Amino acid sequence: MKDRIFLSSPHMSEEGYEQRYVQEAFETNWIAPLGTNVNEFEKELACKVGSKSAAALSSGTAAIHLALKAAGVGQGDIVFCSTLTFSATANPIIYQNAIPVFIDSDEKTWNMDPDALQEAFEKYPQVKAIIIVHLYGLSADMDKIMDICKKHNVVVIEDAAESLGGYYKGKHTGTFGDYGIYSFNGNKIITTSGGGMLVSNNEKKIAKARFWATQSRDQARHYQHSELGFNYRMSNVVAGIGRGQLKVLEKRVEKKKYIFEFYKKELGHLEGVSFMPINTWDQPNYWLSSIILNGDIKPIDIFKALEKENIESRPIWKPMHLQPYFENYEFIGKGISEKLFEQGVCLPSDTKMTDQDLKRVTTIIKELW
Ligand SMILES: *Cc1c(COP(=O)(O)O)cnc(C)c1O
Repeated sequence: MKDRIFLSSPHMSEEGYEQRYVQEAFETNWIAPLGTNVNEFEKELACKVGSKSAAALSSGTAAIHLALKAAGVGQGDIVFCSTLTFSATANPIIYQNAIPVFIDSDEKTWNMDPDALQEAFEKYPQVKAIIIVHLYGLSADMDKIMDICKKHNVVVIEDAAESLGGYYKGKHTGTFGDYGIYSFNGNKIITTSGGGMLVSNNEKKIAKARFWATQSRDQARHYQHSELGFNYRMSNVVAGIGRGQLKVLEKRVEKKKYIFEFYKKELGHLEGVSFMPINTWDQPNYWLSSIILNGDIKPIDIFKALEKENIESRPIWKPMHLQPYFENYEFIGKGISEKLFEQGVCLPSDTKMTDQDLKRVTTIIKELW
């Protein structure tokens, strides 16, 4: 069997930065729970993206959950949410006993459609919060979306789990709304094996999120709790990996972009193939190179041909409003997300791929035409 090529898998720095930080944690016995790495990782990430403060957490999902909690979302509240995303975006809405209303994609960005959002506001002016996703590292149409949101009293949460290192008009995705979240899950552009970060310019809210994430322990000699708590904090070992990975973020973005351009050059001319949209205001992190097929060759043909050669590829996220668990919640839009799901292919975008690996992928695909 030929070597496996992954969609996107962990890639530690060639310099061994991660091990140095982890080693420090070992030497000082600060394995857990908190310590220098956690504090520094928070500062370094906040500084990198240009946010005032950050809370290091056990996952991106936990970060979304605490953002919703900080936004005051509770029982029966309505939350608008991009439908074309991973379930981790939507699940925390349910954790808070709130009600998601799923918003369609815009063909121009693949992300939340401002027109569908406008329609949602007309129907549900009482909405409490909105979660905007920056899919595959592409930024949503933030000026339009923020303009609409500012007219209404709504808390904006950006799910930038897939877009760390990407910019909209020169500003980091995840820093436009009241809260932004990042993920360091194993498949993301940088990883800590698992983890997440909540960022905000509201330092008080971030302090509160840290409090909730450590079981809501009141200031008291004994264990006292006046609020419901969660065990959501990142460990000091994991944060050490994150500090090392953060040093190579730009390098990873550069490689992801190289992969995208390689595919574009090799596959761009094929009948019925179009690439994910890169808008003029967008400087993506190119997390996953994705294409749309609207000719005779179907996504399934590519999945099968690549799988036979031990190469991983995937469909575009199945929209939340089509998921059995969420299908009874409302959806607003024209079905662009459904079309993207049916026609989309995420190509292997692993930063460890060599030119030879990339050629292996494109040769197999081209043979289908
Ligand atoms: C990965 C991901 C998350 C959260 O991931 P965790 O695995 O909980 O860190 C959230 N939203 C999107 C869109 C993601 O891709």
